Amino acid sequence: MSTFKAIVIEKTDSGQKAGLTDFDEKNLMDGDVTVRVEWSTLNYKDGLAITGKAPVVRRFPMIPGIDFVGTVESSSHPAWRAGDKVILNGWGCGETHLGAYAQKARVKGDWLVRLPAGMSAHEAMAIGTAGYTAMLAVLALEREGVTPQRGPVVVTGAAGGVGSVAIAILSKCGFQVTASTGRREEAGYLQNLGANEIIDRAELAQPAKPLAKERWAAGIDAVGSTTLANVLSMIRYGGAVAACGLAGGMDLPTSVAPFILRSVSLIGIDSVMRPKQDRERAWERLAKDLDRGKLADMTKEIGLGDVTDAAREIIAGRVRGRIVVKIG
Ligand code: NDP
Repeated sequence: MSTFKAIVIEKTDSGQKAGLTDFDEKNLMDGDVTVRVEWSTLNYKDGLAITGKAPVVRRFPMIPGIDFVGTVESSSHPAWRAGDKVILNGWGCGETHLGAYAQKARVKGDWLVRLPAGMSAHEAMAIGTAGYTAMLAVLALEREGVTPQRGPVVVTGAAGGVGSVAIAILSKCGFQVTASTGRREEAGYLQNLGANEIIDRAELAQPAKPLAKERWAAGIDAVGSTTLANVLSMIRYGGAVAACGLAGGMDLPTSVAPFILRSVSLIGIDSVMRPKQDRERAWERLAKDLDRGKLADMTKEIGLGDVTDAAREIIAGRVRGRIVVKIG
């Protein structure tokens, strides 16, 4: 096939517009592996790219989509052969390199990770960048010596993609989990994923004191801004927070008090340019430490034609859990 279905973002006089169209294979960018894409997913960043709410897209026209799973069609890379099942997360796909919302993708073989044995392609995209980032955050806390014996862990943006997967992983690993959410109506959903306590995110929305009552041994924060500042002020002595998101804002109105008076560590989590060995470790752990039943419970499936509407929903904070996009 010389053309295939793809969502393409074009630049317009008033900004940009995204639509489903036929894309000519000869316009794919350089890469040593061509993949028949089977599933993708919708992350917050995809929402930003498609709605144009933040300058995620750095090249036009752009095929958005930061994650895919598919089958290698052809490869000149030594690690990959036709028929291999591969996962791609990030590396600028959907930003600077043509991305995942397309029936075909051409990428660098070095960017790809093998689909773990026993994990379906659908499950891999139910996890997607949001879930793989949640796992990177858990691994970072473990490296800081955080164990279930040290105390409970707070997860912010709990009903979103990163939050939902983080709760499920932490719960399976034996942690007591506090879920911070603005959606009280999702309390049952969050408890089902493994949350032991639900708090209203309004509790973390006031300007943060330098230090507040010590509540949690650690945190995974997808929200940023005042929420992260409050979490830092409430972490127990010697604890750690893995910061991965900005759903509430990019600023961080905090003080040095938690760091210098309580030895709290703030760990940054980037998934996009993460070295390959960290990715492989995260996917290996996801295959082991994420309950597949809970993953299915948090996942909804849509088609390529539904992606632009879903993009608006995720930016409005109305998506619960994870969305898988059927491509192939
Ligand atoms: P979702 O939209 O699925 O989840 C975000 C959640 O944050 C929402 O569901 C909501 O949770 C909460 N939220 C939204 N708006 C606000 C607000 N104004 N104030 C407080 N809480 C808010 O997104 P993802 O889970 O996919 O991504 C979460 C964040 O992590 C994003 O900022 C994303 O860009 C970032 N991210 C970063 C990565 C990295 O490499 N560092 C990789 C993946 C994601 P609730 O309704 O429960 O309150």
